[in-house]
Amino acid sequence: MSFEPLRTDVCIVGGGPAGLATAIAARQRGLQVVVADFAQPPIDKTCGEGLMPNTVAALQGLGVTLGSEQAIPFRGIRFIDAGISAQGAFTRGHGLGIRRTTLHQVLVERAAAAGVQLFWRTRVTSPGPGEFLLGSRKILSRWIIGADGRNSQVRKWAGLDRGHARHIRFAFRQHFRATPWSDFVEVHWGRDCQIVITPVSPAEVCLVVTSRSPQFRLKEALAGFPEISRRLEGCAALTKDLGAVSGLRVIPSVCQGPFALVGDASGSVDPLTGEGLGLAFEQAGALAEALANQDLSSYPAAHRRIRRLPVLMSRLLLAMEKHAWLRRRVLKTLASQPPLFAQLLATHVGAFSPRDFGIGNILKLGWGLLASPS
Ligand SMILES: Cc1cc2nc3c(=O)[nH]c(=O)nc-3n(C[C@H](O)[C@H](O)[C@H](O)COP(=O)(O)OP(=O)(O)OC[C@H]3O[C@@H](n4cnc5c(N)ncnc54)[C@H](O)[C@@H]3O)c2cc1C
Repeated sequence: MSFEPLRTDVCIVGGGPAGLATAIAARQRGLQVVVADFAQPPIDKTCGEGLMPNTVAALQGLGVTLGSEQAIPFRGIRFIDAGISAQGAFTRGHGLGIRRTTLHQVLVERAAAAGVQLFWRTRVTSPGPGEFLLGSRKILSRWIIGADGRNSQVRKWAGLDRGHARHIRFAFRQHFRATPWSDFVEVHWGRDCQIVITPVSPAEVCLVVTSRSPQFRLKEALAGFPEISRRLEGCAALTKDLGAVSGLRVIPSVCQGPFALVGDASGSVDPLTGEGLGLAFEQAGALAEALANQDLSSYPAAHRRIRRLPVLMSRLLLAMEKHAWLRRRVLKTLASQPPLFAQLLATHVGAFSPRDFGIGNILKLGWGLLASPS
């Protein structure tokens, strides 16, 4: 069958969260948008399934409000290591735990309602410079957006594939039927791994184990966490374990000619930050604004600003992952000063500017690290 070329303002390669958010934001500004993805919705992916308050707010800006039938609120983050427990509550708003497939379905419906043309089971290819195919159909588009994830092809087509992923880690995710025992997301630190537990419904929790070994599965990891194992005793596994690779990657440049990158295609942070989706949604707004102005020059600076704190936080968390002595000191300091943890968290989710975090808090944290026994 032969088709006329498809004409549009914006062609988005990848219909994951970043691609759909960018499509919705571009439609909100009146642009014609096509999204193509080779998978079929709802698309699943290994994810901690926690949306921080800034991520929830960014979703609301896209016209997406999640109800209690889709998501469950959490009040903050709790770190647990070798009997030390430190928790920080959000100072503004709340986070949401939500199954990845539910989030994807909600975004697909919102994009369709906004008038985005959606093509599923459709791979985008580039047979030659400046030529793009959606499946076998030619597409003519003013802009080509790479929302095609961490191994982005668009990044290669655009000549932007520079920089390497660092701190490569391996993650496995599984859901269990269990009444959430906490309204905090729990991060359990072990010797060789971390387990993150997010409530995702009144009867379901999501567990993700992250480690440096591609072989290290959740079942093995749980042997080192008797308290979690006890809580999950007799609880049915609702999904098979699903794996992913994670890494910290900074892409030096995110636009070139008609190309722009968004979401994981434009760089990624460590999953422990819980910020990948928030970054994608905020970048989507900044990119759509630039597209509407027919000028991408504002996007790289906005992208750098949006990424700055999560990249910094990734480095801190990765240092804690590597050095048990540092981790214990940080946890002891935060455990003894809950308001300090709350303010650190508020800074992380953008409710507080780093300047507001202030020299006083930096000194408190620094003194805590020096003074607490390791
Ligand atoms: C272990 C782990 C835990 C995480 N936990 C959290 C968390 O709790 N909270 C949070 O906010 N973030 C979390 N993240 C980060 C978050 O999952 C990612 O940042 C997010 O998935 C990025 O979305 P994306 O749309 O950029 O990429 P993806 O979700 O990877 O989507 C890319 C899409 O592009 C499609 N595609 C690729 N190439 C083509 C092509 N040529 N043609 C058509 N389609 C194509 C793919 O099919 C895919 O659907 C976690 C990440 C990991 C690894």
